Amino acid sequence: AKARGGAQALLYAPQFDDPAGAALMLEQDLHHAIDNDELRLHFQPQLWADGRLRAVEALVRWQHPRLGLLGPDRFIPFAEERGLIGAIDDWVLRRALQLLSRWDALGLPVPRVAVNRSGCGLRRDLVERVDAALAEQGLDGTRLEIEITETALSADGAEALSVLHALRERQISVAVDDFGEGYSSLGQLHRLPIDVLKIDRSFVRDIGEPRANAMVAAVLGMARALGLGTLAEGVEQPAQQQLLLELGCEALQGFGCCRPLADEPLQTWLRGRAA
Ligand code: C2E
Ligand code: CA
Ligand code: CA
Ligand code: CA
Repeated sequence: AKARGGAQALLYAPQFDDPAGAALMLEQDLHHAIDNDELRLHFQPQLWADGRLRAVEALVRWQHPRLGLLGPDRFIPFAEERGLIGAIDDWVLRRALQLLSRWDALGLPVPRVAVNRSGCGLRRDLVERVDAALAEQGLDGTRLEIEITETALSADGAEALSVLHALRERQISVAVDDFGEGYSSLGQLHRLPIDVLKIDRSFVRDIGEPRANAMVAAVLGMARALGLGTLAEGVEQPAQQQLLLELGCEALQGFGCCRPLADEPLQTWLRGRAA
């Protein structure tokens, strides 16, 4: 099961004997994380079935001055709770596009960058932020993918829908992250302007079990019927990769292809492939 929140995870850390104080401290710290330049991005490649690079997904980390490098599970849930996630996601968007344009300038071919948006991230201001971030780097929408969750789709129907349409107008790809984890929006999926279903890691992990295989086959079949692209996450084993490709999954992401990498190691990885 997922840890309930970054706050809790840290609260139970032995160095804090005062949970309320610890949460407060973390909140103060997180407020300053952006200004203090403590957020970092790692990028995980996504590959097409034939091995070509599809995109890289930006995954945030926090280089905390005392606690070290924290993964998103340690602070994203907390940031969501405290209303700090918008600022973080915006930083991620701008930074990811900045690096993308730098890789362009270096002649390193990264087709697009994917960024994550939390829960209620499909609000009107997303469109303005995306426009500004793309303009800042002189990039167009075809270079960006936004990963949203099923909950974001089911949240505020009207506003989310108009945002999705605005993204489509800009040719920005929209992927439904962790697909299959929730069931809520299954019924309305065919009415939404989305582009890609990203099959949740939990199904990929259980590949080999008849039920998981059936689930993966069903999601891929539905995606095909709806004209949506498909991408599987958390692909670690050759056997998982093989079955996913046999079932027609278009693209793969996971430790089996590549772990998330910081900018420099990613550049090395890209150069190694080109050679
Ligand atoms: P996610 O979007 O489902 O991201 C995939 C997570 O799976 C990443 O964990 C990645 O490192 C991990 N992963 C990739 N391949 C494998 C694999 O083969 N096996 C296993 N076991 N894990 C794999 P990470 O970086 O710790 O991110 C965790 C979650 O934090 C993300 O899940 C995403 O929901 C959230 N997150 C990350 N960056 C951001 C961000 O900038 N904004 C928001 N709102 N959420 C973010
Ligand atoms: Ca994601
Ligand atoms: Ca995911
Ligand atoms: Ca996830």
